[in-house]
Amino acid sequence: MMNPKKIIYLFLCSFFVLFFSCKKTNNNESLSELSHQKKHLKPNIIVIIADDAGYLDFGFMGSKDLNTPNIDNLAQSGVMFSDAHVTASVCAPSRAGLITGRYQQRFGFEANGTGYGDSGDIGLSNDVVTIADVLKKNNYKTIAIGKWHLGATPSDHPNQRGFDEFYGFLAGGRSYFPLKNPSKELRLQQNGKRVTFDGYLTDVLGDRSVSFVEENKDQPFFMYLAYNAVHTPMEAKESDLLKYKNHPRQYLAAMTWSLDENIGKLRNKLKELNILDNTLIYFISDNGGAHNNSSESGPLKGWKGNKFEGGHRVPFIMSWPDQIKPNQKFDGLTSSLDIFTTSMAAAQIKPDEELILDGVNLLPYINNEKQGNPHQELYWRKLEESAARIGDFKLINLKDFGSTMYNLSFDLGEIEDISSQDTATYHELLKKFSIWEANMIAPHWREGKPWEDVTYYIHQRLMENKPVLYKEPRNKK
Ligand code: CA
Repeated sequence: MMNPKKIIYLFLCSFFVLFFSCKKTNNNESLSELSHQKKHLKPNIIVIIADDAGYLDFGFMGSKDLNTPNIDNLAQSGVMFSDAHVTASVCAPSRAGLITGRYQQRFGFEANGTGYGDSGDIGLSNDVVTIADVLKKNNYKTIAIGKWHLGATPSDHPNQRGFDEFYGFLAGGRSYFPLKNPSKELRLQQNGKRVTFDGYLTDVLGDRSVSFVEENKDQPFFMYLAYNAVHTPMEAKESDLLKYKNHPRQYLAAMTWSLDENIGKLRNKLKELNILDNTLIYFISDNGGAHNNSSESGPLKGWKGNKFEGGHRVPFIMSWPDQIKPNQKFDGLTSSLDIFTTSMAAAQIKPDEELILDGVNLLPYINNEKQGNPHQELYWRKLEESAARIGDFKLINLKDFGSTMYNLSFDLGEIEDISSQDTATYHELLKKFSIWEANMIAPHWREGKPWEDVTYYIHQRLMENKPVLYKEPRNKK
């Protein structure tokens, strides 16, 4: 028989072993909980893109007749940029610049469309890296919702471009209502499979943004949320049209209201799930207001498709309550190129060294750690038209016609060509533009003569401050 002392000793030993092993388990649990929380310090990232919205067509940009309470709240929750630009004044190349963080002319994605027709559909070259590629590689769950317009071949499909999920359509535009027999490009799809829907497309895309957040609230996610609102066709819900019954821009007002409502829906869900504060949200329009959607550009000259400010200066918001103070306005020169670089910094990701990014991390500028302008210069080129912004000066070039120069500090409307008054600056801008251009490649496709001719004509007339008599090939007199 065992000695009672030994029994007590053994009992105590097993108690301590049990106690400490339990304790160890508890420690492990709290450690894993901590690392779980730490992992969650990586912010969710959402890029919301509006299509063809006018510079003045949001409350936070000064609109008096369009209502955008939710987008205005988003602006108030962070910073709005007053001198922000996209890299192209039309849809496809602008998105190519944004999603790669690089001037799209570096990889030949310069003209609108994606190269279909004569040249075959080319889209994004296969070696081009997107922001989704990098975030996915770093354990972000990624989704592209809405308009793609970056190519329709199998290798261009969002699922091949870093997105775990694609819930949208490949084309540059489509009806907001269900289509009977939509083409491969026009149909709404989820990862290649057609999705049929009832109702209004803006709501359908908004609903998916909300359900995706619900499904992925426990892990960092990246959402590229590209609404086709407020691109043509001008189509709105009956209830929204009723709301704006006597509005002079009834359809645009109703479409904008629906866009705003759906952005509000997404923010409310993030708030409800308690992840709004650690979600970095960008809001931007892909180019200036179009001539055919009754948009307004306020003091800016030109519209979608132009190298004047009305073509590429856009509303831009950044919100991240955990890291960015609310109610800020930032006047420095910024670009859609900055979204990639800033997101990398926010997520503490170092992209591969061979990846040349043209953007700047905006966070230190917004948080007052760095002073001055994020960009000293920005450049644009689409076929025969190009432009440069250096400091306050803006250069516009039209091939075989000439160049004009403006000082935006007193001439935001780009009326007074000062190229012959300030020849030193003018030649410096021409030189800087050609240095930039030397690093770009030739476009992989063009737009076709009718559109190229109209675009050329519009630029010539605007440079001469003469009325533009037609804006589309079919209206040519
Ligand atoms: Ca657009």
